[in-house]
Amino acid sequence: MPKDCLFCKIISGEIPSTEVYRDEEIFAFEDINPAAPTHILVIPIKHIQDISSATIEDQETMGKLLLVANKIAEDKGLTKDGFRYVINTGAYGGQTVFHLHLHILGGRSLGWPPG
Ligand code: AMP
Ligand code: ZN
Repeated sequence: MPKDCLFCKIISGEIPSTEVYRDEEIFAFEDINPAAPTHILVIPIKHIQDISSATIEDQETMGKLLLVANKIAEDKGLTKDGFRYVINTGAYGGQTVFHLHLHILGGRSLGWPPG
C-alpha cells in the first residue's frame, strides 16, 4: 500500500472511520462530509488509484464492489425512492482521494447534470 494513501490508512484503522461494511475485498464507510442524508464510500481493499487504473485482474473485485454497494443501498432503504452511484476520476472528474471509491448518495432528490 502507498504509505501516504488516506483510504489505505482508513482500511488499516490508522485513521478512524464509521465502518458500514467489510470483507476480504471490499470496505465501506460513511463520508466525513456528507453531500446527502446517506453518503457512503465503497472501496476495494486493494489500492487502485482510480477506475481507469483497474485491469482485467480487478474484474471480480469491481463486480463485487457494485454488488456490495447494492446491498448497502438496500439495507439503508434507498432502493424504493432511488439513489446515485458516483465514481469521480481525475482532475476534471473532481477526484480528491486517489484510491478508487464509489460514492453512494441517497435520501433526497439529486440534481442533474452536475455543476
Ligand atoms: P472524491 O472527491 O470523489 O475523491 O471523494 C473523496 C471523498 O472522501 C469526499 O467526499 C470526502 O468528503 C471524503 N473524505 C475525505 N476524507 C475522509 C475521511 N477521513 N473519512 C471519510 N471520508 C473522507
Ligand atoms: Zn490506498
